[in-house]
Amino acid sequence: MPPNHSPALIQLQETLNGIATDAHSLYGQGKVASYIPALAQVAPRQFGMAVALVDGTCVSTGSAGTQFSIQSISKLFTFVLALKLVGDEVWQRVGREPSGAAFNSMVQLETEKGIPRNPFINAGALVITDILTSRYAHLDTALLGALRRLSDSPDLNWDMQTAKSERDTAHRNMAMAYFMKSYGNFVNPPEQVLDNYCRQCAIEMSCSQLAQATMFLANGGLDIGPQAQSGEQFLSADATRRVNALLLTCGAYDAAGDFAYRIGLPVKTGVGGGIVAIVPGVGTVAVWGPELDAKGNSVLGAFALEQLVQRTGWSHD
Ligand code: GLN
Repeated sequence: MPPNHSPALIQLQETLNGIATDAHSLYGQGKVASYIPALAQVAPRQFGMAVALVDGTCVSTGSAGTQFSIQSISKLFTFVLALKLVGDEVWQRVGREPSGAAFNSMVQLETEKGIPRNPFINAGALVITDILTSRYAHLDTALLGALRRLSDSPDLNWDMQTAKSERDTAHRNMAMAYFMKSYGNFVNPPEQVLDNYCRQCAIEMSCSQLAQATMFLANGGLDIGPQAQSGEQFLSADATRRVNALLLTCGAYDAAGDFAYRIGLPVKTGVGGGIVAIVPGVGTVAVWGPELDAKGNSVLGAFALEQLVQRTGWSHD
């Protein structure tokens, strides 16, 4: 915390510390993701939380500086990049309805003719990565460049081992890519798109970096990080509002309704145990706890966000 902290900031710090203490009592209730072999190696009993406010201050607790695999949280960033590049054209290839099905489910793809329900489940994110693969010769470096700038972290990178571990076992995602190709909803070779997808999922960030990197979503699309100096309109205010609406309705896979009820904020979760939440006009929150519930969402992370909104009264409007 900066030396000239205000009483409100001190109170927020105390709130976070209290939540962290309570969250520790949930250790053992979930399991780390094991279907990606590299993720099974992560020590389960870890917790971090960071809150970045639109005035530039940041408060954190626990292991908020420890980097972890962002996994599906990358779907938020690739979707924003695709929106910036092709705008409303994305809706010709992906829907914007909650799926009500597991993040890696393919059941709806057949009845819905290869058009995934939304950009935040695996099938939808693969289409988005396909769109970006057509636009960037090196999507991995383009995405890292954007994230480094947004998070003011020039060293940000993806973990080669995690990417390889997922790529070697990505049979279901590959099947979905080929299935969508059979409906004409996939342009590039699935192998090439899967390479990019596994790299984006293997990007490692800390809670503090994630809170910073998503700040534009709390701020009408304006990136206010130190490198942006006077502020850069990273995404239009209109598109920002729409991204937040999608995060509220589709950001937690088949637990999106439960998250909206319990937490009521636009969120994006990932099987690395991270969750980012947007509080429009106020700031962003990133939490991390690798133990997941049956739907693949962080047990401690969801608990911590629920506690935070109860104690602060923060909501999506
Ligand atoms: N890389 C993971 C996958 O495709 C991401 C899933 C997730 O975080 N829910 O299975």
